Parts: sequence; C-alpha cells; structure tokens
Amino acid sequence: MTETIESLLKEQQEFQPPEDFVKNANMNDPHIYEKAEADIEGFWEGLAENIDWFKKWDTVLDWQPPHAKWFNGGKLNASYNCLDRHVLKHGDKTALIWEGEMENSETYTYKELRDATARFAAGLKELGVKKGDVVTIYLPMIPEAVIAMLACARIGAPHSVVFAGFSSEALAQRVEDAHSRFVITCNGYFHKGNLIQQKERADKGLENAPAVEKVIVVDHAANVIPMKKERDVWWNDVIHNMDSECEPEPMDSEDILFIMYTSGTTGRPKGVVHTTGGYMVGTHVTSNWIFDLKDDDIFWCTADIGWITGHSYLVYGPLSNGATIVMHEGAPDYPDKGRFWDIVEKYGVTIFYTAPTAIRTFMKWGDEIPEKYDLSSLRLLGSVGEPINPKAWLWYYEIIGKSKCPIVDTWWQTETGMIMISPLPGITTMKPGTATRPFPGIKANILDDEGNEVPMGSGGYLALQNPWPSMIRTINGDEQRFIDTYWSKWGTDTYLAGDGARKDEDGNFWILGRLDDVIKVSGHRLGTMEIESALVSHPSVAEAAVDGKVDEIKGEVIYAYVILDSSCGDSCSLLEDELKQHVVDEIGPIARPKKIIFTEELPKTRSGKIMRRVLKAITNGTEIGDISTLQDPAVVEDLKRKVNEIG
Ligand code: ATP
Ligand code: MG
Repeated sequence: MTETIESLLKEQQEFQPPEDFVKNANMNDPHIYEKAEADIEGFWEGLAENIDWFKKWDTVLDWQPPHAKWFNGGKLNASYNCLDRHVLKHGDKTALIWEGEMENSETYTYKELRDATARFAAGLKELGVKKGDVVTIYLPMIPEAVIAMLACARIGAPHSVVFAGFSSEALAQRVEDAHSRFVITCNGYFHKGNLIQQKERADKGLENAPAVEKVIVVDHAANVIPMKKERDVWWNDVIHNMDSECEPEPMDSEDILFIMYTSGTTGRPKGVVHTTGGYMVGTHVTSNWIFDLKDDDIFWCTADIGWITGHSYLVYGPLSNGATIVMHEGAPDYPDKGRFWDIVEKYGVTIFYTAPTAIRTFMKWGDEIPEKYDLSSLRLLGSVGEPINPKAWLWYYEIIGKSKCPIVDTWWQTETGMIMISPLPGITTMKPGTATRPFPGIKANILDDEGNEVPMGSGGYLALQNPWPSMIRTINGDEQRFIDTYWSKWGTDTYLAGDGARKDEDGNFWILGRLDDVIKVSGHRLGTMEIESALVSHPSVAEAAVDGKVDEIKGEVIYAYVILDSSCGDSCSLLEDELKQHVVDEIGPIARPKKIIFTEELPKTRSGKIMRRVLKAITNGTEIGDISTLQDPAVVEDLKRKVNEIG
C-alpha cells in the first residue's frame, strides 16, 4: 500500500528580495537552474575551477550507485584552499574574529591564520600523526579549534570534531568508533561564567579508550590540571620551535577530509565520512551563492564547530571564499540576553546564520532586547537545523532584518555536506516556512513508497535523485548501515533523506518533519512540523513539540508539549481549550491535539533540536534509552511526571 503524508498548512505570504540586493548578488541568473540541469556534470566541473588544484581531475564523476567519486584523479589540499591561496592575494585581510565568553577577543589575518595552522601541522607531524590518522578534536569555540581542523587537513589527517559539551562517554564512543589515537582538548573553558573542566572530562572518557597515544592540551582557562606522563602534551610545547612552512599535503580528491557524527536526533549517531574535492567544491559555491559572500562581508555563523554547520559554513565554505568570519565562544544569554546583538553591532556583522531554536528563544525574550542595538549592518539572514515556523520567520525578518534582509532557510544534513534546498537570495521569492527550491544541480523530489512522485501538494518522502559533490561517502566502519539507511528504500541510486516533505505549485519544498515521527490519526498520516507551526502561530505560544500516543481506537492521538511566551503569566493553563481550537482553525479538526502539556523546556539535543525519540518514549511511557547527548536531562523526569498525571 502506498502511504503519503497529508499536508494541511495553509499557504503563506510571499516576499521578494530587495532590488539592489538582486542587482548585486553573486548569483542572480534565474536560468541557472535549467542551465545546471541541462548538463549537471558540466555544471559542477565549471564550479570546481573555483578551487585550486595541484593536479586536475581525470573524471568529473564516477557513479556506481550508491558510491560516487567526484573529480577523481585530482589533487588538492583543503587548508591550502582556505588559507595559502588568499595569503598570496591579501594576507593582511582579517580571516577570523574571535569573541570570547569574557568579552575578550582576538583576530587573525589570513597570514596569521596560515602561519598558526602550518606551525601546528608541523607539530602534529613531529608527534607522529601521519596521513590517514584520525585526530579527534574535543575543543570549545576557540581559535585553536579552527587551527586544529585546518592543520589536520594540511597534513591529510582526517579530523573528527566532538562537540565540547558532550559527555565523557560520548567522547569515548566517538574516539573508539573512529579508531582515533590522537585527541586535542583544553584544560578548561567558561560557560555562562562557570569554569568547565574539559580536561577532566576528556580524561574520564579516555579511560575507556586505551588506544589513544597522545593528548594535546590547549591552555585556555589557566586552570591547573594533571598531565599524564608520556601521553599528554601542551599545545604550546607542540608548536614551540616549529616553523610555519609546513607544506600542504597534496590529497587525492577522494581522500577523507573528516568524519562527523550526526546529531543523534533519531538514534545512535552515525560517523559520516566526507572526502576532500567534492566537499570543497560544494561548500565553496553554496557559501558564495547562498550567503552571497563579498569581499567586505563579516559573516557570522553561530553554529558550534561540533556540528556539520560549523564545518561547512564557519570553516571550509567561507574561508575557501576568503571571507572574514566571526566565531563566538559562549551563550546567547551571557552576560545578558542581548549578547548576540551586541556582537553584531560591535563587528558590523553583515550576514548572520543561526538556528530556529535560537530565533524562537529570542522571540520569547522580547523585541525590546534586539531593539536596543544597531543592527543596520545586517544584509542577509540564514536559518538551519529545523523547520522554521512561519511566525518565527516573520519575527526574524521584521525585528532582526528590519524587513530589508532576505532570509535563506537552508535545508541540509550532516550527510549532504552542503546546503541542498534554499533560496538563492538574488533570485528566489521567499515564503515563510519553506526552504524553497533545490540548489542548482540538485534533483530533489517527493516520492511515495513505490518511488513514484506524489501528486502536487501531497506529502511524502524527501528523496535526492542525483549524486552531488559533497555527498556522504560511507558511514565510518559500517558500510551496511550506510546502504540500509539511505539507499535501500527504492534502489541504490536514490537517496532517502529521512524527512517528510511536500512540494507546492511553485516548486517550493515544505519540510513536514521526520519520517519516524509521522503521527497516524484515524487513518491520516500527519507530519509534526505543521501542527507545531500552527501552535506556535498562537500569540501566547513560544515553542511546541507534538507527538503521537498510541490509542486503541484512533491508532494514535496527538500530545502537544507547549512552552508559553513569558508575557502570558498565570492565566496560562486556561489556554488549553483555546490552543486546541486554534489548531483546528489553522489546519483542521483532524489535527486537534488530545492533550496539551505545558512545560518550561523541551527535550533537546545539544544542537537545540527536539529529540524525537526521547519525546516518543515520554509520551508512550516506554524505555527512554541513552540521554547523554541531551541538553538538560532533568526535563525528561519532569515531562514523564506530567504525562503520568494526565493519564
Ligand atoms: P540524526 O541523523 O543523528 O538523527 P540529525 O538528523 O538531527 O541527527 P543533522 O544532520 O545535524 O542531524 O540534521 C539534519 C536534519 O535537520 C534534517 O534531516 C532535517 O530533519 C533537519 N533540518 C535541517 N535544516 C532544516 C531546515 N532548514 N528545515 C527543516 N528541517 C531542517
Ligand atoms: Mg539525520
């Protein structure tokens, strides 16, 4: 039987990018889509010319589904492309502005960043790191994290960055999985004014990873820590006496650049393997066209380097374009809730890229906070990580972008390496809530179980039907899981993204939610996203997560977890019926929540996404499983109790 997902959300208003933005945009040719489609390999080959190669490729694409080799035979180095080639042109241009938690800051020019990278790369070699050795980076948002990534790339050692806020166990698991013998960490760092004992956490994890030979420790917080003899060495000792002439290793296009573990929203994290040539081509062009990077832009991507967004759009994409990037260590509410806008004002940030969870939080904190700051430097805004609800989109557009900045809502995944669906800000008509169109050269579609395209407007599985340069090559150490997860539903040439989506008559893609979270009510299959957006569109609701509870009669009934706006006070609980009716009014009676559970927090991953499998377990009273990557494990008990109370 063919099952699709029903889509109920009503259409939204449209926004055009400002005229002068269009005129000056890096990409403003509306025919670029057809041009790319007419000759996809030629399209990517042309873009590969924007990267510096030590040796040109022999073939653009060798596609033996599901295995792709891009630019095979070509030789290049990612660190050379991000650093050296810009030093030749403008070594004194600022590459990196780092803003510390304590409002301290540092800047690096391209030349300084190149030299620091080469010096550390030379030090890594001296320690015995060889081409092909996986180096685990367990660092917070400090310049050394970027330097370490680029230094690994320089000598051909794949890096595996583990989010600094992850637990000892999460670190150990990833170190083991990657067979990594080298770890880079720091003594400590500050988070909201508190000292985090990072080295202690690393040591605890590494007790369970005996294969680790060397641990390099950055002195970041000046806290005194024990150093394990033979194993531990200080970063400063590693670079001491090293000169800055470590030549970039010529890497094969298909050599591994890094392993990155997925966020773990749906299950055990997957070690996604990315290679060099295709990844650089994909992140370079998407940075250039989607973020419209210009010479004088100040680009701030708020993502942590522990996520793919931090890899592709804090490091490799923008630096390969020679841009100036901002990197921030710390939280959006420390020392106060105006921190992000303070940074935008301080550095004149022009392009700002963040996640819906942050935008909804700012919205909850109130307009008066951003309104205190001069945000006039901003010219383009971006969103990634989850569907952005239309209400949050509009707030972002009006309050942060002052109705003059296009918003790029970018859909992509750790596995895709680069943005796959997004407006091109010099071309696309925007509609709040949709990531709009696939990037030129990307063939996305909405399919049913048999692999047929669903009728226009219906929901189904989001699938990618063409290979693309920065695509996942395998899951580290688990080729079978790679094939089973992404390439088995319809055959090995079609990629199953794992998200439900629908297409509207203008060709825009609307993400409906995770496929695993489709709620089945009385024979209807509903995505979580539209119901959540309907709830959030109520003036008193800041955030919402919906889930299905197994029900004998209806199959499932809808449970909605709701965070109210701070302004709504004590009358909140009276809102239950009103919110149910609001959903009915917005999208129809079938989506009426059975229960509304008011809460202060939702179970979220460290990257701020609702952790669906945990929510599912809470709703249905089943085994919760591993919550070590949850932001705040305490919310689980609280929600379990609330669900229990309502029976
Ligand atoms: P795991 O794969 O371990 O469950 P994850 O899918 O959350 O974790 P990521 O690769 O970081 O890990 O996230 C990709 C997912 O994030 C997408 O599949 C999609 O569900 C969601 N996503 C990202 N950007 C958008 C967007 N602009 N609109 C809607 N959803 C998005
Ligand atoms: Mg995923």
